[in-house]
Amino acid sequence: MSFIELNWLAKADKYIPLPIVVFTPLDYCGGFFAYPQKKEGLIGEKYYPLDRGLIAVDDRSSNFSSTLAHEWRHLWQLYNLGKKDYCHRPDASPGLPYKQRIIKYFLSDARELDALLFQRKKVYAEYAERWYEWIIKHKEVDHVLL
Ligand SMILES: [Zn+2]
Repeated sequence: MSFIELNWLAKADKYIPLPIVVFTPLDYCGGFFAYPQKKEGLIGEKYYPLDRGLIAVDDRSSNFSSTLAHEWRHLWQLYNLGKKDYCHRPDASPGLPYKQRIIKYFLSDARELDALLFQRKKVYAEYAERWYEWIIKHKEVDHVLL
């Protein structure tokens, strides 16, 4: 049995229309979001309306709520900070070890770091704690070296 705790979402900013949430196997990430658009988006072999935006979550993950919080924050960013193109992902630097890719990913994009901090605040997930710890320790090391 599994469940997701969404009390935090019920209290979220009401002016943001709730997006469609799709649970499906995802190959390259635990989740992603699509900005609201007047068209449909293809995920797997199905089309989904994007009018209110869309959040996709890997259905094999055990961290639905945490991923959902992260992607929700990106929608919040759209309504509060405006649009931004997302084109890089943790796998964008294939030469780097996983840990370095995570650190690079979150430190190279303020909105990603913001989304990570937000998801940690809303839902506990072991992986998010680990990523945060890597990032913080990396910053400390950087500081010492400088
Ligand atoms: Zn993100």
